[in-house]
Amino acid sequence: MEDVRGRGDATGVAERVADSLRGPFPLGEHDEVFVSASIGVALGDAGEDRHEGMPNDLLRRADVAMYEAKRKGKAHHEVFNPRMDDLALGRLRMGTDLRRAVERGEFRVHHQPEVSVETGGIVGFEALVRWEHPEQGLVSPARFIPVAEETGLIVPMGRWVLEEACRQARAWRDLRPNSPLHFMSVNLSARQFEHPDLVRDVARVLRETGLEPGCLVLEITESVVMNDARSTIGTLGELKALGVRIAIDDFGTGYSSLSYLRRFPVDYLKVDRSFVDGLGENPGDAVLVSGIIDLAHALGLKVVAEGVETQEQLELLQNIGCDLAQGYHFAKPLPDQEASALLFTNRLRW
Ligand code: C2E
Ligand code: MG
Ligand code: MG
Repeated sequence: MEDVRGRGDATGVAERVADSLRGPFPLGEHDEVFVSASIGVALGDAGEDRHEGMPNDLLRRADVAMYEAKRKGKAHHEVFNPRMDDLALGRLRMGTDLRRAVERGEFRVHHQPEVSVETGGIVGFEALVRWEHPEQGLVSPARFIPVAEETGLIVPMGRWVLEEACRQARAWRDLRPNSPLHFMSVNLSARQFEHPDLVRDVARVLRETGLEPGCLVLEITESVVMNDARSTIGTLGELKALGVRIAIDDFGTGYSSLSYLRRFPVDYLKVDRSFVDGLGENPGDAVLVSGIIDLAHALGLKVVAEGVETQEQLELLQNIGCDLAQGYHFAKPLPDQEASALLFTNRLRW
């Protein structure tokens, strides 16, 4: 745009462009499509307008702003500011570091127990990836999973986590055939779930590690389920046909309709920590969690409460009929050795 007097002129146009792209647009005779636009805005400085290379630089900044808009969620515009360059550079660096980490084997899988609310015993584990960065120490997945997701590295990394988790679960089951561990739960991000090789990879890992398919739980979030309902049903159906079970992670935090629970072959709901947090303090949360449990049971699903930190929360969950619980009250995610010790000494009898 020329003759821009201020940022409002530019963002006003961005909004008009976004409005004109709001569908639905008819496609063929029977279909409609909705699209959304992520828009990046960069403003040139006065006096900057004639120097060489300027158009390229302005486009590059608009591009950086557009990626920022995409990252913050779709259908949104962002105006470039120099901090975005630093952030983009940081992510780029982390992307490079991550790629090296895959090659150098810097990832670890930790295991957090899931216990039966009724008996207090460990029935399964959730596999949670950790990055042992040579300089920064243990890096939280909250920091590197989004970058791995953006760069696509999540696919090989996730495959490795799946292999490790299944191998460990098989070993634990073999060590105690009489009261075996029931399941190992592994997280799948959107990009992994949408990958065309997913079902084949899962089948191969089960075959190679010898873990019974019924012992593997795959966790996906509501947003993954809602992304593209039609292909989701297909993929979930194929995974179920292998015999694996499906959990909805962070349940209650998405903005999705509940109707998918009826349509999709789901086995577990993991109630998000934010609801469990308030148990015992906020009566509304107890009502909500209790309602979720009743709904899940009516649909034949089991419920896992995430982030249980106190005895009081556990007792409330017992009273409202929750099936499984996971949280620091029992144990943090632990390296193999410590998780084994916990499992075999049966210290977890609450
Ligand atoms: P999530 O799947 O919901 O995992 C539960 C998170 O809650 C874990 O964080 C766990 O350490 C933490 N947590 C468990 N109990 C408590 C508690 O009592 N209090 C509090 N404050 N926190 C608790 P973590 O390990 O940092 O993982 C964060 C997220 O990163 C996971 O959330 C999951 O979405 C993702 N993630 C972790 N590992 C993988 C992986 O291998 N693949 C994929 N795709 N995502 C992963
Ligand atoms: Mg999870
Ligand atoms: Mg969760």
